[in-house]
Amino acid sequence: MSEYISAALRDAIRERAGFQCEYCLLPEAESFFPFESDHIIALKHDGQTDLSNLASSCLECNRLKGTDIASVDSDTGRIVRLFHPRQDRWQDHFELRDGLIVPKTDIGRVTEHLLQLNRPKLVSIRQQLLAKGRYPTGSESQETS
Ligand SMILES: [Zn+2]
Repeated sequence: MSEYISAALRDAIRERAGFQCEYCLLPEAESFFPFESDHIIALKHDGQTDLSNLASSCLECNRLKGTDIASVDSDTGRIVRLFHPRQDRWQDHFELRDGLIVPKTDIGRVTEHLLQLNRPKLVSIRQQLLAKGRYPTGSESQETS
């Protein structure tokens, strides 16, 4: 079990994601910081450092997610796993509405809450990019393989 992610693996992850964050969909070109490789299932939960467990993530989404793999759903009080970019399709769990990421499922709800996908700065960037047609809508984004 290794934390080390080679430059080649990092590049493959970013390219597979279309150079966007797989949680908030922010294009990497719009971020001041280079995107990171998120362990979807953290190493401490025995997640592996391979393509099936790695996702492209902006710095903030990665920080807010940390090593979490689930959260408590405010609607039901139940523990619900987080969105898994390799196993779930973004558009099945979220939709974009006027720059807001609106959850469609309990998985979407806990992920939106924990990762604060509608933090004001991000919504503002998203609205500006949407107006210029430069924000992915989720529908044509990452293919699951
Ligand atoms: Zn993000």
